[in-house]
Amino acid sequence: MDLGLKGKTALVCAASKGLGKGCAFSLAREGVNVTILARGREALEATADEIRKATGVKVTVVATDITTEAGRKEALAACPSPDILINNAGGPPPGDFREFTHDMWIAALEANMLTPIDLIKSTVDGMIARKFGRIVNITSSAVKSPVDILGLSNGARSGLTGFVAGVARKTVAHNVTINNLLPGLFDTDRLKSSSAAAAKMQGKPVEEVHATRKNTVPAGRFGHPDEFGDACAYLCSKQAGYITGMNFLIDGGAYPGTF
Ligand code: NAD
Repeated sequence: MDLGLKGKTALVCAASKGLGKGCAFSLAREGVNVTILARGREALEATADEIRKATGVKVTVVATDITTEAGRKEALAACPSPDILINNAGGPPPGDFREFTHDMWIAALEANMLTPIDLIKSTVDGMIARKFGRIVNITSSAVKSPVDILGLSNGARSGLTGFVAGVARKTVAHNVTINNLLPGLFDTDRLKSSSAAAAKMQGKPVEEVHATRKNTVPAGRFGHPDEFGDACAYLCSKQAGYITGMNFLIDGGAYPGTF
């Protein structure tokens, strides 16, 4: 299927590795020129080279922290009028909610709620004026199926989800859609570090914890970032203009509910 995205521009946040990289790659394969952003320049440049060699699209890099106002300014200076915005940032740390400080809550809200809202605010009117826009927020399966030790993530991402539910109904008449993609367990650095944290809390070897997590997934494996990226590219396609305000789980069948 031709997704109708050739020549469009995308700003893909937190994209040197993992799910953000998967999204940038899938969009680039469709001919989208991508601006990719992450804090560390080295990994970012390596990913940019990989994407250029594989797809031939224009790739711009911005080495910055998207959770800061200065970082968002840099991102928008490099890509002032994106047709596509992929909101993503690192996830908050796990822990017992009794130990989460006020500052930790503010950091989680900045990264996983207020930063995407700010970027939506900065880009959506341009998309409306151009009569095309696709915004995808990478959230988490924890929004539908909360994980006890991820209270910061459960809370902050639910706030973003509530905001999106309202605004996505206001933009769709202009062919601007806003949706959330909810990853289950995907094979990324984040997954490895969360297994390491869980192993420490449970006093078990990390290999055992990692294998146990894999066994909880009906697919019998972790997801691949390319699978996530391709779903994201579809949500950004010209065909997906009638899909807005939705929360899509991609979790290998892990969510146990009927709906
Ligand atoms: P990852 O650690 O593999 O990659 C994260 C990317 O984000 C890297 O490129 C990193 O440089 C960049 N990044 C992190 N903080 C940033 C910041 N402040 N500014 C700019 N760039 C930043 O992580 P991932 O597995 O791809 O996860 C992406 C998001 O999805 C996270 O919020 C994570 O919590 C969430 N998530 C992941 C999984 C999973 O199984 N991998 C499951 C549920 C939710």
